[in-house]
Amino acid sequence: MHDDDSQDASWGLATRALRTGHARTAEGEHCEPIFTTSSYVFASAAEAAARFAGEAPGNIYSRFTNPTVRAFEQRLAALEGGAACVATASGMSAILATCMGLLQAGDHLVASRSLFGSTTMLFDKYLARFGVDTSYVNLTDRDAWAAAIRPKTRLLFLETPSNPLTEMAEIAPLADLAHAHGCALVVDNCFSTPVLQRPLDLGADLVIHSATKYLDGQGRCVGGAVVGDAERVGADIFGVVRTAGPSMSPFNAWVFLKGLETLELRMHAHAQAALALAQWLDGHPSVQRVHYPGLASHPQHHLVGPGRQQHSGGGIVAFEVRGGRAAAWRVIDATRLCSITANLGDTKTTITHPATTTHGRLSAEARASAGIGEGLIRLAVGLECVADIQADLARGLEPQP
Ligand SMILES: *Cc1c(COP(=O)(O)O)cnc(C)c1O
Repeated sequence: MHDDDSQDASWGLATRALRTGHARTAEGEHCEPIFTTSSYVFASAAEAAARFAGEAPGNIYSRFTNPTVRAFEQRLAALEGGAACVATASGMSAILATCMGLLQAGDHLVASRSLFGSTTMLFDKYLARFGVDTSYVNLTDRDAWAAAIRPKTRLLFLETPSNPLTEMAEIAPLADLAHAHGCALVVDNCFSTPVLQRPLDLGADLVIHSATKYLDGQGRCVGGAVVGDAERVGADIFGVVRTAGPSMSPFNAWVFLKGLETLELRMHAHAQAALALAQWLDGHPSVQRVHYPGLASHPQHHLVGPGRQQHSGGGIVAFEVRGGRAAAWRVIDATRLCSITANLGDTKTTITHPATTTHGRLSAEARASAGIGEGLIRLAVGLECVADIQADLARGLEPQP
């Protein structure tokens, strides 16, 4: 929850990712240490009292004060351009802590219909039980967002680009809409990361991360974070994590900290490979349609490019093959290199069939209205040689005899 004081405001993204957040100890270590300690020793009873009263700075207990976790928080806050960051045990607990910190019974949320499945489940099955209602709207329909706002609406919640179809919302006008109604705009920035998109610069109030994905980048640990202002994030949401305890472990924080150091290089490499594959798939006779923001055919392509909302198309490509489920499963099962797994944001390419996995719990009608057909495949492009990924996909795409 700590404002960052080690950051030079003039530093570029890559420098912040490497240099922000580490307060070197008396040992002179170069690499950030992992502080595996549950509590901290005070010099005197008076010092203990002052720290507990919040009158003196310093560590107390690792549920809410740990130097390795703090280094990760400061570094991510610097990358997103936020005053405060709270790290959590998972992306889902980041969303839960945000809702618990900012909402109460009787409040209302407006959310995109295209959200990570567990997020929808959290809103409908659990928040609803505590008297918080959620309305869902089409991500790209600004009028629908406006029409869904009620006097008790507190948050607008979205992911852009969406999973798996990579539809994009325009963040700045939705931030204006939220603020005109006294609401906060929350953006789950998991797909783009601060390398490709900085929602706070565009007017969003809070950024959510599943650190499990690109921030780690190598599929090792589960974690999450919320970034935003000192009051909502630094006090309200931090208070929930401090009290309820969905805290990030020091070891995981260290893994994510090291992940952030290469985030910029990795994101640009993921995006470059994804664009090459999207272009190749777009011209393949067995492929009906490719969903990728970096292609001119994408409906929100005008939002993509250096200096625009999203710096590039990112690392996720979805494509529809002719022949429905059988054809899609044939492509997936013919791969020898791509991993058949639902995770994304890994250096290794992952491939999934959304209709029967991540979106399998939706009814057939709900899936159809969301545009998730039986022939759809989602590829989270890794850092293998593009030619090898292409050859792996081509095997199952060849017209069958
Ligand atoms: C994975 C994911 C989450 C949830 O994060 P966990 O770390 O798995 O809890 C939330 N939002 C998006 C967009 C995700 O991809």
